[in-house]
Amino acid sequence: MIVTIDGPAGSGKSTAARGLSQRLGFEFLDTGAMYRCVALAVLNQGIDPADSQSVGDVSQQIRISFADAHVILNGEDVTQAIRTAEVSEAASQVAQYPAVREALVHLQRQAAEGVNIVSEGRDQGTVVFPDALCKFFLIADPEERARRRFDEMQGQDQEITQAEILQQIHQRDQRDESRTVAPLKPADDAVEINTSQLSIEEVLDQLEQTVRE
Ligand code: C5P
Repeated sequence: MIVTIDGPAGSGKSTAARGLSQRLGFEFLDTGAMYRCVALAVLNQGIDPADSQSVGDVSQQIRISFADAHVILNGEDVTQAIRTAEVSEAASQVAQYPAVREALVHLQRQAAEGVNIVSEGRDQGTVVFPDALCKFFLIADPEERARRRFDEMQGQDQEITQAEILQQIHQRDQRDESRTVAPLKPADDAVEINTSQLSIEEVLDQLEQTVRE
């Protein structure tokens, strides 16, 4: 059984997907972390994220795994390192390339083989798992999304204001929505939920109830 949760940055999908997977006893897959891993590997190797050929090569070669709540890239724990503003920006750039998407979609489908899973990202309901049991698309007001991302980034030793995060979010949304391959959009059969005014428990209750129906 597969449940997909898609939506823009800061819509609350990571927290919701993790919480829902715990409630249902399903595995959890954070596909954004995978695009972030490609971006980090690219930056660490001194490759220009605009160089689609080299970025595509990197995405075919890297090893990504998940251990509890940790993200492992080529044997190294990168859980924190993939959350910087620089990596966020590069991730949305590399996510435009068909070669990168092909490599990661393959890994995502592999991860879902033979297990029950809640998978979250931008294209899980539209492209990766079109036959999923249940599909959700989470949205939230841009200011609320920026506030959440700002809170998440506290303690990361980064100097970035909420207004700058809002600007970055707009830029990433625009890129994610307008790219030719797997643009960010709800699947025709997705249930849309606006999380702006909802607590995480309220979101989880709605998701769980819909899945159990
Ligand atoms: O969800 P998160 O912010 O971690 O994703 C980072 C970037 O990866 C997004 O801005 C988006 O461009 C890309 N992404 C994607 N498809 C997914 C998940 C993430 O294109 N399934």
